[in-house]
This record gives sequence, structure tokens and C-alpha cells, in this order.
Amino acid sequence: AWARIRGRLREEVGEVEYRTWLRQMTLAGIEGDEAVVVLPTRFLCDWVRSHYGDRLRALWQQENSGVRRVDVRVGPQRPAEEGEDDAAPAREAAPRRNGLAEPLAGRNGAAVRAADPRGDWSAPLDPRFTFDTFVVGKPNEFAHACARRVAEKPAMPGFNPLFLYGGVGLGKTHLMHAVAWAIRGGEGGRNVAYMSAEKFMYRFIAALRSQSTMEFKESLRSVDVLMVDDLQFLIGKDNTQEEFFHTFNALVDAGKQIVVSADKSPSDLNGLEDRLRTRLGCGMVADIHATTYELRLSILVAKAAAAGVEVPKSVIEFLAHKITSNVRELEGALNRLIAHANLFGRAVTLDGAQEVLHDILRAHDRRVTIEEIQRKVAEHYNIRLTDMSSARRARAVARPRQVAMYLAKQLTSRSLPEIGRRFGNRDHTTVMHAVSRIAELMQADAAFAEDVELLRRMLET
Ligand code: ADP
Ligand code: MG
Repeated sequence: AWARIRGRLREEVGEVEYRTWLRQMTLAGIEGDEAVVVLPTRFLCDWVRSHYGDRLRALWQQENSGVRRVDVRVGPQRPAEEGEDDAAPAREAAPRRNGLAEPLAGRNGAAVRAADPRGDWSAPLDPRFTFDTFVVGKPNEFAHACARRVAEKPAMPGFNPLFLYGGVGLGKTHLMHAVAWAIRGGEGGRNVAYMSAEKFMYRFIAALRSQSTMEFKESLRSVDVLMVDDLQFLIGKDNTQEEFFHTFNALVDAGKQIVVSADKSPSDLNGLEDRLRTRLGCGMVADIHATTYELRLSILVAKAAAAGVEVPKSVIEFLAHKITSNVRELEGALNRLIAHANLFGRAVTLDGAQEVLHDILRAHDRRVTIEEIQRKVAEHYNIRLTDMSSARRARAVARPRQVAMYLAKQLTSRSLPEIGRRFGNRDHTTVMHAVSRIAELMQADAAFAEDVELLRRMLET
């Protein structure tokens, strides 16, 4: 079966991708309903898990319906055998979880689940999503502080339920897993059930079908901490909402902690029953805001360091400027750069980054305006925006102004006279002079050239 799965993947993704990411993947064995797949490095594991995890699981299910999960781990490699068969012994893979999984790195994930009689309730937790790896900044500090508090002392008054909300890819799931890891790893062996709202619904429907709703209710109500991710999924699913509402009440009344996430605040979740909405808003409601430039920088620095790859400051700044949508995309871009660097044994450079990420960057492109250029350049050289059009001729303002003119010529389709007008009604010959002067300086001074290049890339359409 494994050979067939590999074959299918190879066909689906093509030879190049297969060789790059999947060739070294081996099957360590099957543990219960989980197929354990190993790869030699943490980096490859992360990559395969996030890019091919779902596909692997689906292919396994087609082959062997007993397998419901696929775990991708760092592990010792066996020589790749072409005709590997499915009778691979379920040997002890002795996987080493990577260091990021602290404080649970000591135990392996499967063992934790197996030891927990109701562990079945919980979806597996991502070992990368811990408090250690969560980078805190202004946009998420409040949510982070609340999550920490709940992890330390579940079911404290005022923090129950904890309702986390925010846009896609901003760290809700990461924070929830971090809370779950922390509580599971803490004293008292608390029983934490984490699941998506979708999974909650499927479980509920399955219980209805098999007429085991009593069991469903009882087992759910026996958890100490219930975490339901992406609650917005329950909008329009009235029966499931109803069931969730009852579970919710029973648990809170019994002094158990509830943590819920959604893409909107309780009051904005239209289509959720009023009484549920009211109860959800009763504890602590914490939002995760869109990332700031500073937070994106810190995240990139942290992730590059964790991957052990040297990424130049200019590249980090460039990415933080360009990829502003969410952390997931930012991470994806960085991972791709790191992968290229690893594969080809080349250092990460600004040029390389632009080439490797051209498709992602294109999606973030927009037309650049002269105002933007002026603003960015003024910011960069720490001068006032008004000095872009002022008459001051001190070098400290004149040079940045020339840089801005140069960039305006390079990046927009404005004519020289037009550019001149936008820089305090200057003559077109002034602009022409600025353009050639900057080009000259760039020739002569590599550091200066790099500076201007960086600005250009940040602004570029
Ligand atoms: P959401 O559930 O809000 O859609 P996720 O929690 O899945 O977002 O986060 C998307 C990705 O971004 C994950 O890989 C996560 O680890 C990463 N991420 C998000 N916020 C942070 C952060 N503050 N520090 C480190 N990684 C983060
Ligand atoms: Mg999520």
C-alpha cells in the first residue's frame, strides 16, 4: 500500500516536487489508526506535513480505511526501496520530536494519546504550536496573555470561557494548541479535548446515527478542558449548536474550562443562536489583530533562527514589508526560501528571494504611487515627508529626495516634468540630474546601491 501511495503522490505532484520533498520519506510503521512516516530533518517534516499532510491522509484512507491519521516525524532513515510493501513492521520508530515541542518533547505524541482513555476526543496537537514558538507583539499580546492565564489556571472566574477571535492565519489555532500542550504537560493530568467545530459536528452526527448520543454527551462532559476551534463553522448548523450549547453549559457549571476560537467576535457571529452568543461573551473575549511590520519582523527572525538558516536582514525586511496578509503566508514564503537555500546549498540573498518568491510577491503587487515612494524613502532616511517637496538643500534631505526621484522614474510611468512637479514644483532637469546622480553613486558605492535596491524592491509593482 505504501508503495502505491508513494506512486500516486509522485504522479500527482510531478517528478521535481517528488524528488525535492518526498523521496526521502519512509514508512516507520502503523500505530493504531495512525501511519507514521519519517523524514530525516525537522525542516522536511514541517514541509511535508503542511503541504502534503492532507493528501497523504486521504491516500492512506483509500488504501487502508483503518488508517485515519498520518504522523510525519523526524526519524532514522532506511535506504529507499523502490518496491517497499505495506507489510512494513510496526516497529518502534523511536521518533525524536523536535526541540520546539517543549515542554512535551520528552514524551512522544502517540504515547500521550494512547495513555489517555478519552484522548480519542482530541484531534492531535501540532508539536510546533507551543508557547515557546509563539512570537508576541502588540497585535496578539492580549490574546496571548489570556491564553497563558488559562493554561496556568484553567477555569478561573473571568476567563471562562476564553473566546479568541481574529482573521485567518493570525495564530488562533497556534495559541489554542499551546494552551492544550501546556495544560496536558502540567500537573494533575488534566484531560484536554481539542477539536475543530467541524469535527465536533461530525462526531455529533455520527453519534446520532449510531444512536449513541448519550455516550457522546457523557464522554464530552467528562473532559476538564474543552477547546473548539473555528466555531463560525457552526453557523447555520442549528442542531449541532444546540448540542454544543448544552455541553458548554454542563461543563461551565461543573467548573471546567472552555476555550473557543472564531473568525469574528461573539456579537458579530451572525447566525449563532442568541443564547449561545451571550454565553460565549460572558468570560474573556480576546482578539488577535492584523500583524504589524514589527511583529512580522520578529516572527521572521524567530523562524529563521529556529530553522538554523542565515537570512540577511535585508531579506527579512523585504518580506516583512511585502507579505502583510497573514502569518501563514509569511511563514510559507520564508520556508520556501530556506528550502531553496538548503537544497542548492546557496546563501539566501535578496535577489534570490525575489526570484524564488515571484509568484507570491506578484499576488501582493499593487501600483506604486509617487506619494508612497516619498513616504517610504522619507521614513527610511528618517526625514520629514514635507522635505520631499521643500526647498532645503542640505545633503541630509537633498540626497533622500534624489533617491525618491530616481525611484519615481524607475517605478512609475510619470514623465520627468510630472515627477518634478510632485517634488515641490522642481524643474524636469533637476529630476534628470537626480536620476543620473543616484545611478552614479550606486555604481561607486555598493552599500548605497544595496540600500536603494532594497527600497526599490519594497516599493516595486
Ligand atoms: P489561524 O488559526 O488564526 O488561522 P494559525 O494558528 O493556524 O492561524 O497560524 C498560521 C501559521 O502562522 C501557523 O503556522 C502558526 O504557527 C503561525 N503563527 C501565527 N501567529 C504566530 C506567532 N505570533 N508566532 C509564531 N507563529 C505564528
Ligand atoms: Mg485555525
